[in-house]
Amino acid sequence: MRRSLTVRLSLLIVTLATGACTTGGRSPPAPAPPGAPHAARAPPAASPPEPGASAAAATSPGASSASVSGSRSMEVQTNPLIDLHFFVRAIASGDAPSPGIAALDEAAKVARELETELGSPLGWGLLEGNLPAARSAAELVDVFGRLPERFELRLTGKSIAPRAGAVRFARALLAAEEAFLAQVWPRHQEALTRASGALARTLAPRERACFDFIHQHLGLELPAEPLPVALVAQGPRPQGFTFRRPGGRTLSVIAVEGRPELLVLETVLHEAIHALEVHSGGRGSALDQLRARLGAGGVTDADPLSREAIHGLIFIQAGETVRRLVDPSHRHYGEVAGVYAKAQRSASVELPIWKDYLDGKLTRDAAIERIATELLAKHPPAPAAP
Ligand SMILES: [Zn+2]
Repeated sequence: MRRSLTVRLSLLIVTLATGACTTGGRSPPAPAPPGAPHAARAPPAASPPEPGASAAAATSPGASSASVSGSRSMEVQTNPLIDLHFFVRAIASGDAPSPGIAALDEAAKVARELETELGSPLGWGLLEGNLPAARSAAELVDVFGRLPERFELRLTGKSIAPRAGAVRFARALLAAEEAFLAQVWPRHQEALTRASGALARTLAPRERACFDFIHQHLGLELPAEPLPVALVAQGPRPQGFTFRRPGGRTLSVIAVEGRPELLVLETVLHEAIHALEVHSGGRGSALDQLRARLGAGGVTDADPLSREAIHGLIFIQAGETVRRLVDPSHRHYGEVAGVYAKAQRSASVELPIWKDYLDGKLTRDAAIERIATELLAKHPPAPAAP
């Protein structure tokens, strides 16, 4: 099993190792906003028909796919269309510098206009679950052209009609695709080769143990099929995303360029937790337990404190999984990127309690009860309006 895994990984790396030049370094990742999108609780991508979608990413030109380890918990893909999409979004948000290609700058302008129509960066999740259904920008024009005309945003209840804007954006990607593939994609492949190699070194030997550790402590069931993960060179903050896809699957996208490899690894596990929650419906998980316990105390699912606390547990669990099973010197993404500082009201409560739980000093029920009790005592919900 391990031997065949090694072969698959080698194939992935060889396929990717055609890049020419190295990329410049980037500044450390900016903090993910507490309660950032990731989308475990977000609506599924609105779905056009998706014929053959699951195989599409692996068959597009330059795309590659392989499992990271013999446990087959994840299938890591690289795909120039998904890379282009997130690169344009990163240029649009200012998280990546423009390479000075007019068609990419125009696509970034269209991306900003579309984001305004979508209401916020979270709105992209309605579209991006459909990315694997296209193998090229030309196909993406068709896929977005078959989106439902109207979406209703879950959090606000607002109805939006972004299909025309999504098609305009896909056409802008089409206009930029040739220059991107010729001038940008080769060096992005180089970054993706390095990131894939780092994941093979750091995660592959311990992947099964990491997923078992997550399953054991969060109570999330492991998937029957590998979780699809697409690595991209650059993306907008928070640089890790998980989308629901039509048909109930997920897609996690992780930006890698210029980021320390253990932080990329932590992001991979963080997004895997979101994906596991989507797949399992969260039923019976520690995340659901905490959500329900806070709800019983009057802090509803829609309350920012609930979202912050749930997401905080995911940050802590992913960070501690890397620290305990991969490298004891690892510092959590939440710590180095300032997420815990921004979410201090919940992180200060959750960090010591969850570490005690991981140390075996508390049962899960006791840890959840203690976290909820302390959060509710410190931050009682506002009284209902008369
Ligand atoms: Zn997240």
